Amino acid sequence: MEIEQKVRQTLKKINLDKRQKILVALSGGKDSALTAYLLKKFGYRVEGFHIDLGMGDYSKKCLSAVKKLCEELGTKFYIYDIKKEMGNSMCYIRNDIQTGHGKGLKNCAICGVIKKWIMNREARKLKFGKIATGHNLDDEVQTFLMNILKGSPQLSANSGAIIKNVSDKKFIARIKPLFYIAEDDIRKYVKLKKLPVVFEKCPCLLDSYRKEVRKFTNFLTTKEKENIMKNFDSLSEKIQKLKTEDKLNYCEICGEPSRNKVCKMCQMIKQ
Ligand code: AMP
Ligand code: ZN
Repeated sequence: MEIEQKVRQTLKKINLDKRQKILVALSGGKDSALTAYLLKKFGYRVEGFHIDLGMGDYSKKCLSAVKKLCEELGTKFYIYDIKKEMGNSMCYIRNDIQTGHGKGLKNCAICGVIKKWIMNREARKLKFGKIATGHNLDDEVQTFLMNILKGSPQLSANSGAIIKNVSDKKFIARIKPLFYIAEDDIRKYVKLKKLPVVFEKCPCLLDSYRKEVRKFTNFLTTKEKENIMKNFDSLSEKIQKLKTEDKLNYCEICGEPSRNKVCKMCQMIKQ
């Protein structure tokens, strides 16, 4: 199977160690489900991690898909209930931020920062060596093009099948085993394997700029998308040199790794 071969190659390229424990961030969707399925199939030590965002029916469906998947794979999993841990659902937390310190921030940007903050802290507490996410070729092509179109290629500096240049005892490296796999191929494969997943999109998905870029990338062939990421890979060292700040500090408020004195999460939620 071509997908399997490509993912094996990606894992080889990033030198993924079979002894290390990997926490797969499972959203309930197809990409992260396939990530867990393949890592498990290839003999890696994987466990699942799901953040229950408390967003009504959609979150309930995601939670139940994650539970079913982990049961089928025979994988241990952890559920982080955002309402219990942070006092409110993602919708309320986000709304507070958008009417407070995060005016103008997009839904997905806020949710992304919060999810990364939670994942890093929990994976570290649970002593995992890596976090795997389901980001695919289409996601990565869109992000890379968006950063170029905004005139900020340096924002792609840490991107890649493994996050680059961050080595710190409090930071758990994130890997993207599906970095070179097109979304269409993932959808077909997940259907073929009948993996329990939610195909519905998040009801709060509201990143208009990404939507515009996606309209364009949807016209591209897989080969063209692969070529864009080949360009990215070969320019990667140069892009990394564009970064102004590469030192990791610890946030003055929460103690989590941060490039600034106060991390993005605490900047958003400060009272
Ligand atoms: P997204 O930011 O929604 O495009 O998701 C990107 C990746 O983040 C997914 O492929 C998952 O690996 C992870 N992820 C997204 N949502 C969740 C969630 N609720 N719980 C755990 N991991 C998630
Ligand atoms: Zn902080």
